[in-house]
Amino acid sequence: MKLVFLGPPGAGKGTQAAVVSKEYRIPHLSTGDMLRSEVAAGSQLGASIADDMQSGKLIGDETISSVVAHRIALPDAAAGFLLDGYPRTVGQADFLESLLGSAKLDLAIELVVDPTILIERIQRRAATALAAGGAVRADDNIESLRKRLSIYQTQTAPLTEHYQRKGLLFRLNGDAPVSDLSHEIIRRLALLRAW
Ligand code: AMP
Repeated sequence: MKLVFLGPPGAGKGTQAAVVSKEYRIPHLSTGDMLRSEVAAGSQLGASIADDMQSGKLIGDETISSVVAHRIALPDAAAGFLLDGYPRTVGQADFLESLLGSAKLDLAIELVVDPTILIERIQRRAATALAAGGAVRADDNIESLRKRLSIYQTQTAPLTEHYQRKGLLFRLNGDAPVSDLSHEIIRRLALLRAW
């Protein structure tokens, strides 16, 4: 099963992706996590993207698409995968399609959440991490967050229509309780499997 999760920062993509990944035993591929590991490891790639990531900008389509192409070529993704945070532009979606060829995407799951709720959620996420003595993501500050939300509206939101036209879109209200959302997603995926 090949899935992508769409939704603005803080919509809960990571949480739902983890549930689906466990249920279907497919790797949860978060491009944000992959890039943060590069930055933490101090690799050449990490050094070249750290500033853009911190300020909430997208990194270039070519760079991220090559990271994704390498990752989904690994054996654990042969039977399927779940992409969280990719594609984020129509160019990336086109690249993914050409990469997959006949092994088409099965579904694009979009979590729709009101922006004011997102700002509260991300601020809570940062406060909880700090209270637990953990680290706060470099881009979990109000300035970067506003930039990430505005980039989402202009560059990523058009993917809704892109996947709708292809008959691949499954939209959910991301304000619903986490477990209700998981149930709805799993139910929809079961239908897909039954085909
Ligand atoms: P995320 O954890 O998905 O919110 O991603 C964190 C940051 O990583 C984003 O704000 C971007 O700077 C970068 N990033 C992650 N995925 C992509 C992508 N598909 N295209 C461009 N930049 C990305």
